[in-house]
Amino acid sequence: MRYVSTRGTAPVLDFEGALLAGLARDGGLYVPAKWPRLGKPQWRALAGLSYAEAALHVMQPFVGAAFSRRELEQDIEAAYAGFGHRAVAPLVQLAPERWLLELFHGPTLAFKDYALQLLGRLFDRALKRRRRRVTILGATSGDTGSAAIEAFRDSPVAEIVMLHPKGRVSEVQRRQMTTVLAPNVRNVAIAGTFDDCQALVKAAFVDLAFRDAMNLSAVNSINWARVMAQTVYYAVAAVALGAPGRAVAFSVPTGNFGDVFAGYVARRMGLPVSRLMVATNRNDILARFFATGEYRSGRVSPTHSPSMDIQVASNFERLLFDLQRRDGAATARLMRSFERERRMAVARERLAEARRLFDSRAVDERATLATIARVWKENALLLDPHSAVGVAAAETMTEAPVVALATAHPAKFPDAVERATGRRPELPPRLADLLGRPERCVDLPNDLGALQAYMRDTQGRAP
Ligand SMILES: *Cc1c(COP(=O)(O)O)cnc(C)c1O
Repeated sequence: MRYVSTRGTAPVLDFEGALLAGLARDGGLYVPAKWPRLGKPQWRALAGLSYAEAALHVMQPFVGAAFSRRELEQDIEAAYAGFGHRAVAPLVQLAPERWLLELFHGPTLAFKDYALQLLGRLFDRALKRRRRRVTILGATSGDTGSAAIEAFRDSPVAEIVMLHPKGRVSEVQRRQMTTVLAPNVRNVAIAGTFDDCQALVKAAFVDLAFRDAMNLSAVNSINWARVMAQTVYYAVAAVALGAPGRAVAFSVPTGNFGDVFAGYVARRMGLPVSRLMVATNRNDILARFFATGEYRSGRVSPTHSPSMDIQVASNFERLLFDLQRRDGAATARLMRSFERERRMAVARERLAEARRLFDSRAVDERATLATIARVWKENALLLDPHSAVGVAAAETMTEAPVVALATAHPAKFPDAVERATGRRPELPPRLADLLGRPERCVDLPNDLGALQAYMRDTQGRAP
């Protein structure tokens, strides 16, 4: 399988190349040159397989010859072996034709583990084979950081530098990052928002001299392999509910558009997905786009669901590329205009095309808490605020069945859950002492020069 950049001018790479590169050198994102398709018998054959077995079938076409089937199988097995539920991604019924897909059974209790546990293993394998080392630079609104640090801690071939917006992640989220004292892990608190952190990462990557000197690599959701690994649970859930004989709709709590884009990929692979609901909190750039065709960045406003407090959804560029008929130059023009003016618009027919599959709703804070309270009352089940946004948006859908993705464990966001239900969710036993562990983190201003100086100074040194 070959990978091309959404901006059309970066080198074409194989899966391993796209995995290690993260962001393309022209500022674009890697996507498969062609969407692979599975036929009905191949989807049907997923029924009854374990999560890991199904994952191998779904991901193999994207990996191609970059890793052998045996290598991929080993890494997948190891990635999901430590998850806290035997089904890995269990479906729970909420109401007739309404389901919850629990994606919080990994080591850091958010869905990001599902991709990053695999990515860590694929990186180690690829880097050892190439006798290379990398510095992974990432920005996190909370959950990516802990999942990435957990996946790469103690790696002999990768250092990881993770930026988070100071004071804007929950205490559990912060501690899941800063209490990892492995020598290859550096946490940086930036005086700014998540979008500022993400802009710093992007700027560091397009400074090609710095990028090459540091061997930079990315595991943010701009990394293609993350999207790929996330297509698996869409397939597993849909097949469990009757696909390919029946189409299934999904409601997806969305920030960077990575998770819901994986649902789009599953559909491009031939999985019958009837609708994808892009569920956002009041940071609603995507809801406004799907309503009007204008993609315009607003101010980030903090909410109960901080992992979705985003006004620039980086994976959106991948959808834009398909909507522009995979014309890299046209996509680059739109993205550059967005980077300059903080707004861009797509043609009416392109919007109509996107709306045949996607719908979008912004869910406000009051509705988020009300949904947590209602599901607690009706189902005796605690939802975290991100999952509640997805469940609330699913209420407005007419399709059946609908699967709402539960993207985090309630104990990651105990304050909001307690406020809504009066009950404080408990951390699973393996994380019970998190609040007492020592932390390590440095503070930096929102400034590219300061970040680059810090990274040059600390590269290869024990902290
Ligand atoms: C990252 C995250 C999201 C948003 O996912 P995207 O892929 O960025 O759209 C939603 N919920 C939780 C709990 C997350 O950690």
